[in-house]
Amino acid sequence: MAKKQFKTESKKLLDMMVNSIYTNKEIFLRELISNASDAIDKSYFASLTDGTSNKSRNDYEIRLTPDKETRTLKITDNGCGMTKDELDNNLGVIAKSGSFDFKNNPENKDKEEIDIIGQFGVGFYSAFMVSDKITVESRAHGADEAYVWESEGADGYTISPCEKAEEGTVITLYIKADTEDEKYSEFLEEYKLRMLIKKYSDYIRYPIRMLTENEQLKEGSKDEYEKVTEDETLNSMIPLWKKPDSEVTEEEYANFYKEKYYDYEAPLKTIRQKAEGGVSFEAMLFIPSHAPFDYYSKNFEKGLQLYSSGVMIMEKCKDLLPDYFSFVHGLVDSSDLSLNISREMLQQDRQLKAIAKSVEKKIAAELKKMLDSDREGYEKFYTAFGTQLKWGLYSDYGMHKSVLQDLLMFKSSKEKKLVTLHEYVSNMTEEQKKIYFATGDSIEKISLLPQVESVISRGYEVLYLTEDVDEFALQILHTYEDKEFLNVCKENLDISTDEEKEALKKENEASKEMLDFIKESIGESLHSVRFSSTLGNHPATLSSEGEISVTMEKTLNRMPGAEENQIKAELVLELNLNHPISEKLKSLYSEDKDKLAKYSKIIYSNARLISGLSLNDPSELASLVCELMVE
Ligand code: ADP
Repeated sequence: MAKKQFKTESKKLLDMMVNSIYTNKEIFLRELISNASDAIDKSYFASLTDGTSNKSRNDYEIRLTPDKETRTLKITDNGCGMTKDELDNNLGVIAKSGSFDFKNNPENKDKEEIDIIGQFGVGFYSAFMVSDKITVESRAHGADEAYVWESEGADGYTISPCEKAEEGTVITLYIKADTEDEKYSEFLEEYKLRMLIKKYSDYIRYPIRMLTENEQLKEGSKDEYEKVTEDETLNSMIPLWKKPDSEVTEEEYANFYKEKYYDYEAPLKTIRQKAEGGVSFEAMLFIPSHAPFDYYSKNFEKGLQLYSSGVMIMEKCKDLLPDYFSFVHGLVDSSDLSLNISREMLQQDRQLKAIAKSVEKKIAAELKKMLDSDREGYEKFYTAFGTQLKWGLYSDYGMHKSVLQDLLMFKSSKEKKLVTLHEYVSNMTEEQKKIYFATGDSIEKISLLPQVESVISRGYEVLYLTEDVDEFALQILHTYEDKEFLNVCKENLDISTDEEKEALKKENEASKEMLDFIKESIGESLHSVRFSSTLGNHPATLSSEGEISVTMEKTLNRMPGAEENQIKAELVLELNLNHPISEKLKSLYSEDKDKLAKYSKIIYSNARLISGLSLNDPSELASLVCELMVE
């Protein structure tokens, strides 16, 4: 029979598996057991809901059959099985195609292949790490015929009809010959298989059985032993979330998490929740240590697994998680949900809503607890997912600000460390009325802004906002602990003393004509030009008037569809009254207006550059500067 070829990506993965660059080969068993358990879940769910199967829960099992003579290990399940097409589609292409999207992304080119295997569940193919050949005999639920899929690795596979009386799947691994480094025969040993099941698959909710040989005292004898064969169940079958937290080790949580959610790193935090009273449910939730590579893309799907009394009814129930906690993985098991409930009805379900609410509260409380008691852990979390919290706050117009505002952190001018808003406010001096912040591409650039320097020099702390979403999030919050937020680059920055203000006002009035002349000479749509006394050593700066700040202008105009409708901040050019340049401008106003016009353009262009704005006509600036040089 002609061999079919694997899809390109699958072939690459297979090559990696066959050549076994991954050292942790034993995980193949966990992957196959987990597939078998999923297949039984599907069959059991069908038996409970559509009446096409009359199996009961106790009829299900997963069986291991090692055979040293033929060097084979069989993994048998009586789950849903696969049709001919399913064998072709499921085993001919890599299931988690995300791993290759990841690899093809140029940013990740240099990453070791080993990372990729760690990063994603490689599932079924991992069996090629320990096998020369694999056959999969399967009969699908409700089908009359059975098929066998067979492959010796990268050169392709065949599918042909076979005899199989029972529904389900038998996977036969032809275990590789031992090498100097690897004792593959171990995978045919009872003790090893028993150990692997305990280590990785203990919580599987169906029995994993194996015929085992044990020594037993002969009946009636005190010292004579005999070998007896027993059908032993190797796993405890208690799902992890049904065991008391105190009986589950960190390692068990980590193994469960890594296998289920395809992560190579243990979770940052595991959360257990048990609710009784209103709706009763148990939840086991995980906060990842890092954002998955596709987290901030539209391919990412949030959701928790949903179980009804131990039977999985939905793989990803998105209604259980608000967007701002979309990074949470885990599951909810409730005895109050009906098994037969459809997806559409679930959305409306009152009990599901109550669970979601309670889960949300729990996550928020646990994060807050982490912030208070494990700062390092929280900062790691926040670096990975803080952006999502801020988008969450913004995207529902602050509806959840009470949940989110205390979880936010920003870098601050004091020690350039992350601080919470509460910490900022607690550090405020008595006369400080507002929470100051400044925006820009990086901490370094922000700290060089004239306004920032001057606010800091007056002893105030400034929050450095470097992400697009930051300023929008603060705008939605509006206040925190009754203190308003203020962008120091806005025109209404008010940190001067009354005398300073008075003097400035006079100066601005006296120089009105000149300032208007400067504004005219610049020619671009400026709101106004004025003197300022809070610019430290800087000659000039740009601030903005109104709702839209310079950074918001940049962010909004980058958004899709913004080309036609460009938004403009109302810019104010502030000239430093205490800088020699102001005197110079004044004298030019009476002596050489032509030159003043040129100077004005240069000062304005410089101020734009310092604020991170581009120039409409960079060559004009270049020629102006050159002209002055050769004078
Ligand atoms: P994953 O399980 O992560 O989706 P795998 O490569 O392990 O990826 O498996 C691919 C698919 O093959 C599974 O999603 C499932 O549909 C099918 N499959 C694998 N093993 C079995 C099995 N024992 N019974 C039924 N279907 C199976």
